[in-house]
Amino acid sequence: MRFDVTVLGCAAALPSVGRNTTAQLVNIHEKRFLVDCGETTQVALRAGINGDSLRMMRIDRVFISHLHGDHYLGLPGLIATFNLMGRTRALTIYGPPDLERLMLLHQEVSGARLNYPLNFVATSVDAPVLLWEDASVEVHSFPVKHRIPTTGFLFREKRREPGVKHEAIRALNLTPSEILHLKKRQDVLRSNGQTLAWEEICVESPPARSYAFAADTLYWERVIEAVQGVDLLYHEATFMAHHKALAVKTYHSTTTQAANVAAAAGVRRLLIGHLSARYKDVCAVIDEVRLGFTNAELARDGVTYSIEQQQARKTG
Ligand SMILES: [Zn+2]
Repeated sequence: MRFDVTVLGCAAALPSVGRNTTAQLVNIHEKRFLVDCGETTQVALRAGINGDSLRMMRIDRVFISHLHGDHYLGLPGLIATFNLMGRTRALTIYGPPDLERLMLLHQEVSGARLNYPLNFVATSVDAPVLLWEDASVEVHSFPVKHRIPTTGFLFREKRREPGVKHEAIRALNLTPSEILHLKKRQDVLRSNGQTLAWEEICVESPPARSYAFAADTLYWERVIEAVQGVDLLYHEATFMAHHKALAVKTYHSTTTQAANVAAAAGVRRLLIGHLSARYKDVCAVIDEVRLGFTNAELARDGVTYSIEQQQARKTG
């Protein structure tokens, strides 16, 4: 089952040739979530990747980290395009409280009449919040530290139940109630004193996968807590280490700080973005990140990063 992140834009505030402002399409089991919506997002979505459509009309949820223009200015255009394309399905937008006011004012002054419901859900900078879930996926926001209210987003697969081996069902004559317990990873004690150990009777499902988008942020220990153990972390590194003072002044992070967050949080893989356009030698940038965290790479526009399914461990 798919779990991947397509980077539609990973520039810092200034877009450049080949690097758009921030936007990503997260695809989990063919459910599409848009994360941030910089100016060029709908063009990137319509262009697709290597000729393959990204099926933008199937995006039902948009997550906006904060209201700096390079993270949301594509949203009015995207909302209008959805309308022109005949959308009737609701679109839900999660973001800072002021986003609803901003978008509704835009609708009002432009005289737009949408043919589909537009819903807003406000994020919080006080604590992590579960924003949405269904049977197989959940999305949380978590506070980061930036000049204005900003959150990151955490996407998590829900772990599937283990499967009960068919031969065990027959050989042990398992009852529906016993099967239910075993699927909840609980051992069963039978009235004759026999213990049925779920680990021996079930085939464990693969571990659930996770992705965290840490938005624009200062180095902050609460971010480490929020992204603990994720399979893939997208962390900004607007500046190289020698520009640390500039990072602090502008509420951004450096290469070294991004690497430290990834290492301290024990993530599996790190994707670096939001790099200032001032750095022409991107190899020097990623080398600096890898000094602190080896499994790191620079995000590139138009590239899909897959989170592969890991083998099921016997327990846990
Ligand atoms: Zn920002």
